[in-house]
Parts: sequence; C-alpha cells; structure tokens
Amino acid sequence: MMPGHVSPRDLDAVLISHAHLDHVGAVPLLLVSGAPKIFATESTVRQAEVLLKDMLKLSGYFLPFTDAEVLKFVRATQRVNYGERIRIKDAEIEFIDAGHIPGSAQIVVNADKTLLYSGDFTSVKTRLLDGCDDPGSGFDVVVTESTYALEAHLPRKVLEDNVVELARETVNQGGVMVVPSFAVARAQEVACILAAHGFHENVWMDGMARQLLQLYLDDEEYVDGFDLLARTSRKLRIVKGRRDRERLLEDPSVVISPAGMLKGGPAAYYAQKIAGDEASTILLVSFQAPNTPGAKLLAEGKLSPNGSEIKAAAKVVQYKLSAHAGQAELRDYISKRSDSGIAITIHGDPEACEALAAWVNANTGLKAINPSGPEPIVV
Ligand SMILES: [Zn+2]
Ligand SMILES: [Zn+2]
Repeated sequence: MMPGHVSPRDLDAVLISHAHLDHVGAVPLLLVSGAPKIFATESTVRQAEVLLKDMLKLSGYFLPFTDAEVLKFVRATQRVNYGERIRIKDAEIEFIDAGHIPGSAQIVVNADKTLLYSGDFTSVKTRLLDGCDDPGSGFDVVVTESTYALEAHLPRKVLEDNVVELARETVNQGGVMVVPSFAVARAQEVACILAAHGFHENVWMDGMARQLLQLYLDDEEYVDGFDLLARTSRKLRIVKGRRDRERLLEDPSVVISPAGMLKGGPAAYYAQKIAGDEASTILLVSFQAPNTPGAKLLAEGKLSPNGSEIKAAAKVVQYKLSAHAGQAELRDYISKRSDSGIAITIHGDPEACEALAAWVNANTGLKAINPSGPEPIVV
C-alpha cells in the first residue's frame, strides 16, 4: 500500500511489523524527500532489503524510488529487539514476537492511551516459529489483522502428514514433486517439514528461497526451530545454475522454489516441465490469488506459458500452510483481550474484516470498527 496521503514530515516514527512487501514495500517512498525515524527488528530489515531489491529488479521502472532509498532504509532503520522498550516522544513502544515470519512483530504503543497492533500473526506453532508471544491485555485499542476471519485452517499435524505422504507417493512412482512456494519462510518451512518426518529423498531448493535460507541460518535468534533448520539445510540440495535445474528433473525428487503462485521464478519453469508427467505432482502450499497461474492451474488443470496451453497430467494439489491466524485463532486473540476498549479489524477482504467485526460485537465486550478507508478514528 502506498501511503500517498502521508507526508514524511508529519511522522514522528514509522514502526515496521515485518518484511512482507504489503507492510514494507512503500517505506522507501518516505525516504525520497524525508527522513522519518524507522524502527524494525534486524531480521525484518535484512529480509526487507532482499525483497525490496528484488521488487526494484522486477519493476523498478514503475516504482517511485530507487536503490538509493533502499540503502537509506537499511542504514537509517533503528533495530529493535523483542521485548525492548523504546521511547518516541511521550510514547513507549514494544515489539513482541508475532510468529508469522522470522523477525515479525506485534507492536504495543503505550502513551496517554494504549494500543496493540497485531501485525500479521499466528498463534499456531510451525517448524520454523513457535507462534506469537502474549502481548498482554487491557488495551484501549486492539488493531488486528483479519485475513482468515472466514476460514478455518486444518490442524498443522494433518497438513504436515498430507505433505509428506504426497512427497513419498510421488517419488515412489518415479515422479518429481514441484512445490511452488513463497521465498520468505514458506519454502524453508516445507523443507523442514520433510526433514522432520524423515523424508530422505532428494530435496532441492531454488530461486530467492536460497538467499532467505542463508539469511535465516545466519540469524539464529529469529528462528525458534533453528536446530531443525540447520539439520535440514545440511541435507538440502541447492540449485546452483541451469545445469542443476535441468538435471534434477531426471530423478525422483522434491523441488521447492518461488514463485508461490507460479507467477514466474524457477517454479514456473519446473511446473511446465513436469506438467505432462502423470507420475509427478505440483503441490501449492499457499493461497492462490485470483487470476494467477496457480489459481488457473487449480481451477482448470491448465498452465498457459507464453500463450500456449499445457493440460496438466501431473497431480495438482493444494495444502495451505498458512502463516496467518485462522478463524479460531483470530477470535481467540481478541477474546483474550476482551477487557480492551475498541477492536479495529483490518488487513483482509472487506467481507472478512466485516465478519470479524460483527463477531467481536456479538461475542465480546469490545466495540469493533471495520474502517472503510483512511479516516481518523478518535479514541
Ligand atoms: Zn505478512
Ligand atoms: Zn500482510
């Protein structure tokens, strides 16, 4: 989201919850003509640097900032540790682990009023992260994400078992399982799940996921499942170039790579290569946005590279290994803070934000607001 209506001069500080581009993608824009104070965890800054540079590489021509602002962002951002209290004017700020991706934070603002911003979070334990920490209760305002307010997740154990079973089934019949996956945390999570379940066949990693893997291995503090990740990475095969890319498809294996919705990246190449092979599998491990190649593949069983059309003989499956709270976790998060004042439901489809607000009003003592746009809310 581009904060076009905000002047950098009017900001006392910018608090960044995590490295995903829907949260940090527009921050360099604030540095074109201004120099607001920016706060984030070390891991968030490092991952954001990788993602912002990639965004510039892919669509820099259309973006209103350059490498110079990304560099400014990396240099100027003040690093915050979980649990550390920082002071900005008369407000005290605390970042608390959100369990969403490494470095992600819920943010508590303590001033004349108190506010909890959930950021993107999950309370579900995954292989990389233990889930969010308790940010406390009794806030004047709780701002919460609403992504999966209308959807329950399958239990993690069921999802993991499904993933591993599919991988075993595919390699046993001589096929390749391609796992299109977000580079940030999801690709490494899938590799860890396979390793944790004793899957010893070839597992390859390609694309930007390799860079993020290295970053997580260098930053133990932000990965709760670091031992498993380190163990996983020792057996993991890293694609080093085109020769590997071609060769790995000759043997039964699993290959994990961005892009998660098959919009380019090595995953799109692999998916096209194996689509015609009925022994192989394409496993989508995330939500597929409408009109993406992944959504089309799920709905119609077809890939359409460069105007041509490939009918998938390979098995196409989706198991959503979400890093967001599901419906039950969102409700639980707010219920645990039912001694708070106002809940503001954001970050979701309009129906999801609306549904969560309606549930809060009907089932808790909080007053819920589902803002329709960037209007001020007075507490
Ligand atoms: Zn996120
Ligand atoms: Zn988000």
